[in-house]
Amino acid sequence: MKHFHEFAKRRLANRTPPSRQRRLVPRTADGVYLIDDQKRRLLNFGSNDYLGLAMQPGPDLPPETEDGDLTLRGSTASSLVCGWSQDHQALADAIADWEGTESAVLFPSGYAACCGTIATLAEADDLILSDQLNHASLIDGCRLSKATTAVYRHLDVQHAREILEAHRTAHAEAWIVTDSIFSMDGDVAPLIQLSELACEFGAHLVVDEAHGSGVFGHSGTGICESIGVKEHVFLRIGTLSKAMGSQGGFVAGSTAIVEHLVNHCRMLLFSTALSRPAVQDASRALRHVRHHHERREHVRNLAKWFRSEYSGGFDSIAKEPHSASQVLGIRDEVPIIPILLGDDDGATQASAELLEQGFFVPAIRPPTVPEGTSRLRVSLSAAHTKAQVTELLKALHRIVGRASNENSFSQ
Ligand code: PMP
Repeated sequence: MKHFHEFAKRRLANRTPPSRQRRLVPRTADGVYLIDDQKRRLLNFGSNDYLGLAMQPGPDLPPETEDGDLTLRGSTASSLVCGWSQDHQALADAIADWEGTESAVLFPSGYAACCGTIATLAEADDLILSDQLNHASLIDGCRLSKATTAVYRHLDVQHAREILEAHRTAHAEAWIVTDSIFSMDGDVAPLIQLSELACEFGAHLVVDEAHGSGVFGHSGTGICESIGVKEHVFLRIGTLSKAMGSQGGFVAGSTAIVEHLVNHCRMLLFSTALSRPAVQDASRALRHVRHHHERREHVRNLAKWFRSEYSGGFDSIAKEPHSASQVLGIRDEVPIIPILLGDDDGATQASAELLEQGFFVPAIRPPTVPEGTSRLRVSLSAAHTKAQVTELLKALHRIVGRASNENSFSQ
């Protein structure tokens, strides 16, 4: 971990003289005032809240407007100006504590976190290795960065190795970026092998845990935790909009990396900070997620059971030979289950028929997925009961006709 830290410090120092370095100052809104981290009460001339609608009534504002009690709770500015409150800081600290990292920072969305982080960290003379089926937010980060990007075949560590063998020495730094769980296929990155590869070639592994966090790992931080590679991952990116039920994104890593992002990441510098309700909801969700296993166990059990009841279709895109996630049974517990139908019409028709029967299961077609792999994407939740999932299985059996054994639905 130490070399990660040293590297990030060097990057920050190279790009920004100390006199220009900035830091996030938690300032909490009180009507038209701000209370800063030294408890000073400041009349706020830094927000973009032109109509004053986001300023909660303080002593100097009437508690009611003619619209009634209109107290909106936007953050009113970007994080570095005055959108970063004590609540934002407390959530970032709680995420760092949960993730076991020195620091964390919040983004307006998971998309911004992924895209902005890659675009900021990978520089012109660097090499990025990116899984072929990475989420658009990572792909766009690669496109925005000035680094050279090489796409390796989905889950293919050997291909990634070949690229590194051929090109690593021509580049200053190398980055391997991957989703932990792939959003359209529900399969799991070979993170142990990728972390070994990163170590062997002096590359930095960056993992997007959008679909893993909250669901996998003893304390719920994701796939890296459940397969024991957390310490070998340069930084992890997550979203507050999926398992956390709120909105926003985060990056967890060393303080030096977070400072680097705070100073250079355009998605963080030039976009309004998360709204206060989003921060408060995410904080409440995190307190729950850290200490309660029941929901993640329930949704993982549902996924495992769904797969055992429904054979065919859902795992025919890419196999994960000998991958740790398969050995540990993680793959079967992923609550994203694609049902491959191949052509666009088949997928949209199946989705429409399910709708008729009272189920919303979206059809996913190109360009979201590769040509010829249109599918239904079943996404399970801890809010579903086994009985509800049984009903879906029966409907899928009727419509798609690939259920393994009708008798097995007798629940
Ligand atoms: N990464 C992955 C793998 C995702 O599936 C998503 C959301 N679809 C994101 C990042 C972006 O997260 P958000 O919706 O919070 O912007």
